Amino acid sequence: MIAAMAAAPTPAAPPPPAAPPAAPAGTADRPAQPGARPGRLPLLHSARVELQCLLGILLVGFVLGWITGMIAVLPLVAALGYCVWLIWRMNAVVAWLQSKPKVATAPPSFGVTDALISGVCRETKYSAKQKDRYKNALKQFNSLAAELPDATIVINQHRQIRWSNPAALSLLAVHPERDRGQRIDNLLRDPAIQAFLSEPTGMSDLEVQSPTVPGRTLSLRMSPAGRDMAVIVARDVTQRARIREMRRGFVADVSHELRTPLTVISGYLEMLREDANLPHDVQKALGQIDQQSERMRHLVDHLLELSKLEGNTLADNEGEPVYLASVIGTLCKSLQVDVPEHEFVVDANSDLYVLGAPQELYSLCENLMANAVRHAGAGARVEISWQSTPDGGAQFSVRDNGPGIEAHHLPRLSERFYRVDRGRSRNSGGTGLGLAIVKHVAHRHGGGLTIESTPGIGSWFKVQLPPARCHERRDEGHISAAG
Ligand code: ADP
Repeated sequence: MIAAMAAAPTPAAPPPPAAPPAAPAGTADRPAQPGARPGRLPLLHSARVELQCLLGILLVGFVLGWITGMIAVLPLVAALGYCVWLIWRMNAVVAWLQSKPKVATAPPSFGVTDALISGVCRETKYSAKQKDRYKNALKQFNSLAAELPDATIVINQHRQIRWSNPAALSLLAVHPERDRGQRIDNLLRDPAIQAFLSEPTGMSDLEVQSPTVPGRTLSLRMSPAGRDMAVIVARDVTQRARIREMRRGFVADVSHELRTPLTVISGYLEMLREDANLPHDVQKALGQIDQQSERMRHLVDHLLELSKLEGNTLADNEGEPVYLASVIGTLCKSLQVDVPEHEFVVDANSDLYVLGAPQELYSLCENLMANAVRHAGAGARVEISWQSTPDGGAQFSVRDNGPGIEAHHLPRLSERFYRVDRGRSRNSGGTGLGLAIVKHVAHRHGGGLTIESTPGIGSWFKVQLPPARCHERRDEGHISAAG
């Protein structure tokens, strides 16, 4: 009824002393835009209604005052009555607001107070709807997260678990309820995981064995989320790891099996080539066969070497001191014999050594130096450096002033069999595996390979090795960290 009055006010109608129970739901129920906040309260309209009502009361006061001869008193009484009525309505609204405001318990009202009640009702209804919406979204998210096959853990800046899904329990033994608030590094004790967790977020992936199911391999990734938070996702990659292992085993077996027949072929070829009675063209053909079998042997050796390097890194204390300056010296001497026209410039710290696998480190140096010789062209200048770096690690680098490599090749250069110029590489005796070997040796020693090159100016291959592996021999019996 009040709503009807608000919609079509009658200025002359006297205000009811106590309005019948209002139905503010009539205005509160006005449909809001789906998903949007309700519109502004019709304040101007309700103020106009209120004003019309006041004028109506005053008019009645004047008319009655004129009839009764109390023209000075009755309008005043009417205005006072209106004020009391307004205060009474305001008081009812305040009391209602102080309780838990609901549409059903709204006090009877009119004009401005009715608009106020309608607005609050609408707002309450809107909030309830929003709450339901959030509740549903949360429920949906929780049920989706429960279905996720990947373990997902949200941690804060103190590495404390804020949230985790059920897969985290099966893959990482992190309980969604029990472990909330615990530090993740107190729960996952594997040293590799500990090192991974201490790295800045989003840096790398880690493959580890699952702490819950033996033989299951997990791939862990940590990415920043929101402010001071991070999400750790652990994915079961057992199948992928098995296939990779099978491929590695297969390549190693095939390479190994090929070695024996190749040795036999080479032996017979050598024997045949010693026969001086063979016609010249046969000699020539035999020479070519020998060359090709040599290439195949080289390829098989590289494949075997690579399959041994792939996948695992050296343990922290694994390896022996390798003085790369002496390796560089040996290689320079042997290369200089084959390519006397090249200029070698060496800047190597003979006291600096790296803890590692001697054979692998020799291969690393040999591949980079041989590449410079083969790809930089005749008479090139090759600068080789082995020096400590400011961070306490060390760097081995080979720089040449050859033709250089275009930028788009660089990211793929250390992939197996990737060559800039396939024909040229083959003709120069390349297998396409040299840089892949270098990269794997560097990774196994906790380091990395970076390549810089400018077409027409030259290329610079740098291998960085970590401080933990690099030391310097200062004097007899005294060893210090490099740098
Ligand atoms: P390859 O046996 O063909 O040398 P690598 O894996 O060692 O195989 O190198 C991959 C490719 O990178 C080479 O085929 C060559 O195109 C390019 N490359 C490597 N080193 C150099 C260099 N010093 N200068 C120019 N190109 C190079």
